[in-house]
Order: sequence, then C-alpha cells, then structure tokens
Amino acid sequence: MSFQNLDLHPDLMRGVRAMGFTDPTPIQTQAIPVALQGQDLLGCAQTGSGKTAAFALPVLQHLLHKPGPGVRALILVPTRELAAQVETSFRDCGRFTPFKIAVVIGGVGYHGQKQALSQGASIVVATPGRLKDHIQQGTIRLDRVDVLVLDEADRMLDMGFLPDIRAIIGRLPKNRQTMMFSATLGPDIDRVAAFAMKDPRRVEIAKPTTVATGINQIVYPVNQGQKGELLVAVLQAAQIRSAVVFCRTKHGADRLSKRLKEKGFSIGVLHADRTQGQRTQAMDSFREGKTQILVATDIAARGIDVRDISHVVNYDVPRHPEDYVHRVGRTARAQGVGDAITLMTPDEQPFLSSIERFVGTVFPRAVLPNFTYTIKPVLTPPRPKSFRDMNWSRFKRRSRR
Ligand code: ADP
Ligand code: MG
Repeated sequence: MSFQNLDLHPDLMRGVRAMGFTDPTPIQTQAIPVALQGQDLLGCAQTGSGKTAAFALPVLQHLLHKPGPGVRALILVPTRELAAQVETSFRDCGRFTPFKIAVVIGGVGYHGQKQALSQGASIVVATPGRLKDHIQQGTIRLDRVDVLVLDEADRMLDMGFLPDIRAIIGRLPKNRQTMMFSATLGPDIDRVAAFAMKDPRRVEIAKPTTVATGINQIVYPVNQGQKGELLVAVLQAAQIRSAVVFCRTKHGADRLSKRLKEKGFSIGVLHADRTQGQRTQAMDSFREGKTQILVATDIAARGIDVRDISHVVNYDVPRHPEDYVHRVGRTARAQGVGDAITLMTPDEQPFLSSIERFVGTVFPRAVLPNFTYTIKPVLTPPRPKSFRDMNWSRFKRRSRR
C-alpha cells in the first residue's frame, strides 16, 4: 500500500512527501478512506502509529474540496502540549494548503487567540476548558464546523471534560463528521459515541489494550526506602539518549527532579502546577535535546511525540492500566524501539497485576546488577488468580436473590 492509492489531493501528497513519509501506516491505510467518505469513525491503533495524520489529512482534504468561511474543523485534545503538537502536524501535512490554524488552550492570554480567531482560522485545535470560555465570551463561532475530531478521546473523559464536551458539541451543526482516536478506546467511549456520532465505523488495528511492539518492558521490584536510590542507579546504568520519568503526583515530580539534578542529570519538569511558560520551556528543551530527562506526571503520557526517547521510567506504578500503555508509548514511536522500566514497591504489586491483566503480559522482574539492596526483592510474580481463589461469596449472594 502506498500513499498514491489513498486518493489524496496533490497538495497533500506534496506535504506527505515533504514530511518524508513513504508508505502510510496501517491506521492511515484503513482510516483515511473511511474518513474521506465523510463517515463517522472510531480509530484505535497503538501508540506512535501515526493516528494524527490519519485524521489531519482527511480534514485538510475536506477543506480543499469544500472551502468556505468560518471555523470548519475542530480538533479537541486533552492537554496543551498535545494541542501544540497537533497544530504542528496540521501545519506539516497542510504545508501546501492555504488554511489558517488557531490553537485555543488554557494558561496563556486570550488576546492572541482572539486575534487568530478573528483573522479567519479554518482549523481550531483546542483543549475543552478554554474553548468553552471562548464560546461563553462569544469570541468563537462553531456553526460552520463540518468535522470534529476528539484525539485521546478516552483521556478527555477521564479528566472530567464530558460536560464541556457536551456543551461544545451542542454548538456544532448536527450535520457534521465526527472522529475519535486513541490507543485505548474502551467501552466508556460508547456513551459519548451515542450522542456525538452517527453510525460510527470502528477502525481497529490492535486490541485497545495493546502495548506498541518494540517496547522492551521490565520491572525492578524495590523497597520504598530505596526507590529514589534505585532510580538514580537505573538512569546511570542505562544507555539513555533521552528519557521520561513518570511520577504519580506533581509534588513527587518536583521532589524527584531536585534529587536527579543534584546527581548531575539535566532535567526538565512538566506538571499541571507549573506556569504555561515553564511547561512550554520544559517541553521545548526536551524536544531539542537540551535536557536529557523529562520528569512528568501523566499530563505527558498522552500523545506526546518526541523523537529518540530511548527510555520511559515509571517511578510509580500507574494506578490505571490505560495510563501504563500510554506512558510507555512515549518510546518506540514510528516503529522504533525503546525500554520501559517500572519500579515497583511491594505495595504496588496489585496495580502492576491489573496492568498485566489489561495488557495480557506478565513482565519480567529483575534486579539491577551492582546495586546493593537492603532488602532482597521478590522476583516471582504472584500466581494469577485461579478458579480456586475466586471470591465465591459474591456469587453465592447473587444466587440467593
Ligand atoms: P499516534 O498519534 O498514533 O501516537 P503520531 O501521529 O504522533 O502517533 O505519529 C508518531 C510518529 O510517526 C510521528 O513522529 C509521525 O511523524 C510519524 N509518522 C506518522 N505517519 C507516518 C508515516 N506514514 N511514515 C513514517 N512516519 C510516520
Ligand atoms: Mg496521537
């Protein structure tokens, strides 16, 4: 399959060539024809498999074929960093098209956004909260939107954006195309699909729990008291080009980044309590390779595409299995390879087990060579729950009813 077979406009083909893409990825091969027909679409494919272009190219093609004034395409994403990145993808894919793009995100002033909107943006990439503010202030009109895309749709629901999304969708013409994309489109999404979509086609390249191939996963069990020390040792031992270290809390990320700085690592920090200026700067220096390690909360788990992240380290075991899939998906993008290392205390074992059930893999446990453990770590995973261990009382209670 080549891009030639996808019936893309010559100006988009020029964009594709300029980006250096030779062949479409599987999700692009399957989703683009459906999207070009104007059908509603639920697209599910592994992290790093090119979902952005799978919706950006059809959106641009629609605008080329049906030009007109006003905001014509609306892309909703869960985080500001992802909004900036999706904007870049549209600029790259649409390099030889005339369309203006506006980014509407929180944490920055309204002035520039109002200006971009009043100057006739055809494509708006937005986070739901700030977009709702613009709607309320009357600084954006959405009554000409033909295409709505929800990227990382399930994450936006997790973040509690459902009411905002409902309010936004209420402003859109009923007669429009709606597409949703994620590597983890679970059953929750059906509730949104029910009111936002018409007969959506499901284009699924992998089961919605699949970790991208090319990610080498390993778990280091360790006691709480030695976790920080082990992290430093892991980072020193690994051949790291660049790495993201994920923490569960903002406070934890701050503390950890201080510790790593003291050990001489070049560090950026990304979490929601930092100013947008600090967030942008952390992301930019990491992208440019000026900082080697980004310490982040799950805010960086979704969608972020940085070349050459060789390692993802889970300093905390993620509490939700989906988050694991997305965190480790920051490495091994576009058919690359990478390492995903998870540090696990005995308390975190249940969370790891539920991740293992979700992705259908039991991860190898290991000790770090030359690291002095004060307490010998347990390397055998607990036995999977068998028929015998099942909690029969629940069943008995039910059968009595
Ligand atoms: P996803 O949204 O599925 O996680 P992205 O859209 O962020 O993935 O794409 C991941 C990387 O793959 C990006 O760097 C992108 O430029 C690259 N990419 C996308 N499509 C192709 C293609 N057809 N050929 C080569 N690289 C591609
Ligand atoms: Mg994506």
